[in-house]
Amino acid sequence: VPGALPAALAAARAGRRRIVVPHENATEAAVVTGIDVHPAAALSDVIELERRGYDTPPARVNADRLFASGARGGRLDLRDVRGQLMARRALEIAAVGRHHLLMIGPPGAGKTMLARRLPNVLPPLTLPEAIETTSIHSIAGLNRGALMTERPFRAPHHTTSGAGMVGGGANPGPGEVSLAHNGVLFLDELAEFSPSVLNHLREPLEDRFLTISRAAGRLRFPADFMLVAAMNPCPCGYDATGVRECTCADGARMRYRSRISGPLLDRIDLFVNLPRLEFAELTSRASGEPSASVRSRVATARTTLERARRHSSGAHPDARMLLAEAADRLALSARAVRRVTRIAMTIAAHDGRTAARREDVAEALQYRPGAELTTLS
Ligand SMILES: [Zn+2]
Repeated sequence: VPGALPAALAAARAGRRRIVVPHENATEAAVVTGIDVHPAAALSDVIELERRGYDTPPARVNADRLFASGARGGRLDLRDVRGQLMARRALEIAAVGRHHLLMIGPPGAGKTMLARRLPNVLPPLTLPEAIETTSIHSIAGLNRGALMTERPFRAPHHTTSGAGMVGGGANPGPGEVSLAHNGVLFLDELAEFSPSVLNHLREPLEDRFLTISRAAGRLRFPADFMLVAAMNPCPCGYDATGVRECTCADGARMRYRSRISGPLLDRIDLFVNLPRLEFAELTSRASGEPSASVRSRVATARTTLERARRHSSGAHPDARMLLAEAADRLALSARAVRRVTRIAMTIAAHDGRTAARREDVAEALQYRPGAELTTLS
């Protein structure tokens, strides 16, 4: 049955001493401590358990051991990605600061390859995170009796409905944003998604959870994910890429870009353009840096960033001066200034420092959306 794990969690929290679940869900539910999980194959087993006063030993699972023995690391490694140094850098900065990222580039530039490798450079799931994430997958009927030990990567198709994206519908269950909880939500071909579906992302991006109202009451699903989106520069995919001539009409190009609303763009922190891969890069035998070394840098930088956030010395005076100049010259909104500051702090932490320097601000300014997106209403 779906939801055995969250049911056991809720029962334990409510002070129950035991719960009976179907055999095939016993391992999943027994991860919860402080409650006896009794497996049963049929209703007659439940009656028998009741009659004999639950004298059979309950299912026991050593959650720590189960968690430690789970699959980790995946098979997708950044080693396989050649070139695209700027995008790799943006991906790493995003991983450190948990920033949302949009990659823009022609087909074949490696956007999807990079996105799929993000979960594996994030710090490993903790046991509480694993239980949380498994619970959500359990409710959706997607868990197969094990504890999830890898961060989820969800890549819903652009035809996904609003209910599919955020949950709800006739029988409210978690949507893609909740299945991506503690992991990555990847939206490929961002401009192809329906604007109303994208609009639904505002709440989870802002609050990191999602409320679904229905007649019987309100359900709250966690939805704390990193958003990675990708799009072509235009419908044909080749505008300003130097690969080939863009064949789109001006109107079509404008409409394509304007499908992504300002409020959604406002919640994306890093924008990066991926150039077409040069022939030399594609045929080069040199492989990229492996995920393991990126992951260890990310973990170290996160510790530094936490320290910086606790007792921040903020930014150096010359960094603040550059930011003020840029805000003036580029007419940045207060929100944009805060975003650049946040990213500059992440870049500083990545370099082992707790205060942003001028060069951190300069780099952070490079991750702003290009004119093709900002000129839109
Ligand atoms: Zn085009």
